[in-house]
Amino acid sequence: MGVKSLYREPEAPSGKIEWPALELHDVFKIYRSGPVETVALRGLELEVRRGEFVAILGPSGCGKSTLLALAAGLDRPSAGEVRAFGESLEALGEPELARYRANRIGIVFQNENLLSPLSARANVELTLRLAGFDQAGARAGDSLKAVGLGARMEHRVSALSGGEQQRVAIAAALARRAPLVLADEPTGELDTASERLVLTALRRLPQEHSCTVVVATHSRAVATAANRIVELRDGAVVA
Ligand code: ADP
Ligand code: MG
Repeated sequence: MGVKSLYREPEAPSGKIEWPALELHDVFKIYRSGPVETVALRGLELEVRRGEFVAILGPSGCGKSTLLALAAGLDRPSAGEVRAFGESLEALGEPELARYRANRIGIVFQNENLLSPLSARANVELTLRLAGFDQAGARAGDSLKAVGLGARMEHRVSALSGGEQQRVAIAAALARRAPLVLADEPTGELDTASERLVLTALRRLPQEHSCTVVVATHSRAVATAANRIVELRDGAVVA
């Protein structure tokens, strides 16, 4: 299959072959800084089917953020293979990886790159315009309502709570119809009530919008919001 096919919309979930949304096969990631080598992932095997909501659970340093960075095409494995929607990311150059991220990936990271002087709606609208969507304003509004921010979408991001900011990032992924949403400790610094709202917004992505969601967390309480928990220790899945 050619590189171009990565930019097709995922096939309708009926009849045809169902590629997993994400596969990591025998993946190693070794960080080198001078003489020091850190093995962040060692022979990782993971398969996430479309429409799943999977939690990657493990203590700090076990390789969760590394795994998500490889899945997002933000970094490359030292060995092994990362496949998204049936196709290997290895063959893609930087421009294709950038397009892969723009078309396929919604990122909800702890320090999300929202533009804080702009309103929530303007932020979502901007990501839509950059991705070439029509009617970005209306679409942004609908997505913000869907994550419970209808009443707050004209507020500047800097005036929103941490949990609300995370929901703006989820709304941006939803508005773009990103088929694979990656969330790295999305509730890391939130109180319990905000945590619940963020998890509800994430859970609705697979339930109502047939997205696939992978959330990395060190919290078993957060992980139980997912449909499946994959435990990571020292860069590999715990058997
Ligand atoms: P987690 O997200 O589970 O806390 P990470 O994927 O961030 O784990 O890190 C896994 C291991 O890789 C840790 O030992 C961490 O210190 C190391 N590591 C992560 N990023 C880098 C980097 N850019 N350079 C060197 N070591 C790194
Ligand atoms: Mg991390």
